[in-house]
Amino acid sequence: MTAGPGGSGLRAGLRIGIVGGGQLGRMLALSAYPLGLRCRFLDPSPECPAGQVGELVVGAYDDPAALDRFADGVDVVTFEFENVPASALARLESRTAVWPPARALETGQDRLREKELFAASGIETAAFEAIETLDDTVRAFDAMGGPGIIKTRRLGYDGKGQARINEAGQIAAAWPGLERASGGGGLIIERVVKFDSEVSIIATRGRDGSMAIYPPTENVHQHEPAAGGGILRRSLAPAPGISDEQVRLAGEAISRVMEGLGYVGTMAIEFFRVPDGRGGHRLVANETAPRVHNSGHWTMDGCGCSQFENHMRAVAGLPLGSPRAAGCSVMLNIVSTMPDVRALCRIDGLRIHLYGKEARPGRKLGHATLVGSSFDEIRDRLAAAERLIYPAG
Ligand code: AMP
Repeated sequence: MTAGPGGSGLRAGLRIGIVGGGQLGRMLALSAYPLGLRCRFLDPSPECPAGQVGELVVGAYDDPAALDRFADGVDVVTFEFENVPASALARLESRTAVWPPARALETGQDRLREKELFAASGIETAAFEAIETLDDTVRAFDAMGGPGIIKTRRLGYDGKGQARINEAGQIAAAWPGLERASGGGGLIIERVVKFDSEVSIIATRGRDGSMAIYPPTENVHQHEPAAGGGILRRSLAPAPGISDEQVRLAGEAISRVMEGLGYVGTMAIEFFRVPDGRGGHRLVANETAPRVHNSGHWTMDGCGCSQFENHMRAVAGLPLGSPRAAGCSVMLNIVSTMPDVRALCRIDGLRIHLYGKEARPGRKLGHATLVGSSFDEIRDRLAAAERLIYPAG
């Protein structure tokens, strides 16, 4: 990167290519503009949310001509989602710098590789095993000695492509559907973990290896039939009830994973908070997201520097901003139906982020965040916001 006037080290108008034009891409761009960065998106839909805020190349992710048009003249490419075809990654890498590295995306696309990475990094996971046949699965289930969940290795998230198995007799009925959902990409079975809450940790790693680690977030999911699984409904940060020791351990865990992958950008790891039988808890890792994450949306309003801005700083080679929380934040996802925005605007201090999407069942349309000096302080305003956003309770 060439030095700009005043030796800032940042060339004026550095252009960042973002693969994917959904709300994450849109929020990445909105955080990048104040730093003087420019953004270009690649997305198959001309109506995508990011197309409203930046230059958009419309094309399939595996269309070589679209990939070339997108990469032409950008200084660095990054992603808002992990399911980028390997051939597209290779083509982009041959033309420009790409962060996070391909290895991180490939790992994030595959639950088996992800779990193996956790194990190699000394991070506890639920017991798991790769399975190929019905007989395999029955044997693995019996060996685990308790309820299990079968998941597709690829293209599954938010509970899609999964079946919970309480007894071996249920496996045969679930098998054909799971095999179909896996698309030939394989399956794993893992032991059901009895957890008290779900917690995520988000961090950004700079090109120089510097780390910005956000406080852990507690996440509450809601089953959304239209979305085919659980969708994040509410995040609380910093996650209540997490000991300093657990915060330190979670930070060390994500640092090891990111260093091991040579990661640059923002990443999330989702954990189960499991009672340890001695009055405390352990964190058991579930999955990673090699990108900015819904459970980090509160950082836009509740932190010195958001997960989005830090991601853009990292890929642009800029120093990272502070991940420190300004207080206690609660983020509510707006899913399926648009609430009365005028009424939301009347709630004192409520920050509203809408993604420019048409309402549709199961779709994430926006989010709203309240930040206060304590969770107690924002309780009444939160209840008012919840009545508007979730009128059915
Ligand atoms: P996932 O697609 O892996 O994020 O799983 C979706 C949701 O299913 C998680 O947020 C959990 O609520 C639940 N879940 C997934 N794996 C397990 C497990 N091994 N034990 C208990 N619950 C799980």
